[in-house]
Amino acid sequence: METKFPLTGWSSVAIHGGHQKDPRHAHLTPIYAGSTYVFDTAEQGMNRFTGKEPGYIYARFGSPTITEAADKIAALETFGLNIPAKAILHASGMGALTTLFLSNLKAGEKILTHFSLYGGTEELIHRVLKDLNIETVITDLHDLNNAEAILKNDPSIRMVYLETPANPTLQCIDLEGLIGLAKKYGKKVACDNTFATPYLQQPFAFGADFIMHSTTKFLNGHGTAISGVLIGTDVEFMSTIVTKKHRLLGANANPFDAFLLTQGIKTLEVRMERHCHNAMEVANFLDTHTAVAKVNYTGLSHHPDQAIANKQMRHPGAMMSFELKKGMSGGMEFLNRLQMCVRAVSLGTCDTLLSHPASTTHFGVSKEEREKYGITDGLIRLSVGMESIQDILHDLDQALSTQ
Ligand SMILES: *Cc1c(COP(=O)(O)O)cnc(C)c1O
Repeated sequence: METKFPLTGWSSVAIHGGHQKDPRHAHLTPIYAGSTYVFDTAEQGMNRFTGKEPGYIYARFGSPTITEAADKIAALETFGLNIPAKAILHASGMGALTTLFLSNLKAGEKILTHFSLYGGTEELIHRVLKDLNIETVITDLHDLNNAEAILKNDPSIRMVYLETPANPTLQCIDLEGLIGLAKKYGKKVACDNTFATPYLQQPFAFGADFIMHSTTKFLNGHGTAISGVLIGTDVEFMSTIVTKKHRLLGANANPFDAFLLTQGIKTLEVRMERHCHNAMEVANFLDTHTAVAKVNYTGLSHHPDQAIANKQMRHPGAMMSFELKKGMSGGMEFLNRLQMCVRAVSLGTCDTLLSHPASTTHFGVSKEEREKYGITDGLIRLSVGMESIQDILHDLDQALSTQ
């Protein structure tokens, strides 16, 4: 970035942050699709490999298109905080998580986390890390006394892993309280900030060491690509251990997806304002509907975590879930009747996306197990889009009319 004055506004950083002037005067950083970079001399090759001279080497390690997206996200996650951070773009959110865990934990060490994480994260913990003898302690992290007792008594816990707000109940974890405790006992803290985005919540402000995003979601914003990011405040650690793991695991992002991500991030503030405004209207509508048993949204005063969300988030976000009284058949019938809103998993796109976890993502999980995580038969998950609000409400209303 080559501005002569500091950028003071969030969207100015979202638009200009991370950008480097193109040597051929292209307005947007081009998609650098080639696999390798040229050394002018043998000595230059040596100097790039030893780090004496900056410069690109091989596209699995990085390229200008990828650097721009990563640097923009680092600038947003540290906006107004005056702390350093380095971001590394990955092939997906899962790729970023894999690098996070394998850079920080070895056999015999443990993660402390809470119920109801993103499904892929839960499977990574149970199906991959467990086989590497990296165990996970799962507990209710709302209870800070309970969390402190565990942290105090189990020295093999190396990392506290948080997802807030979390799928599908929009449970929130008190970042200030929990990170404070983790630091007291010398643990590292990582936070999945996908649902909130850096516009709504900055875990680094509370002392988190790492943030990850599935940039596939709100940061891209248009459902056009898959990618993920890992950001850390220990720049030295990020530049050495984490960079090495990222390269060796082959979790590199591709330049086409990075280009789309960069363009998407530029409008994040205006998109989130619209998403959140629409979400509040949708939550109020569903909350008084006779077919709906319960709405999980922290913008509603009956959500148990409203105070925590208000403390650490700018707005309650655009994700919510609600329970239909008619259960499994009600959930499927409702989805089938939707006309404009889209039946799909994923989230954070311009259009409103709805899914029915009990018949799709969690079909293979026993009813008893599902209900432990709040996934009842009639639960619908909703990513509220940016369409004109009257059309979203109209579609939901007509789809609910047979319930
Ligand atoms: C989608 C998602 C992930 C995984 O990201 P991918 O880009 O699909 O690999 C992780 N955490 C949350 C909260 C997500 O929504």
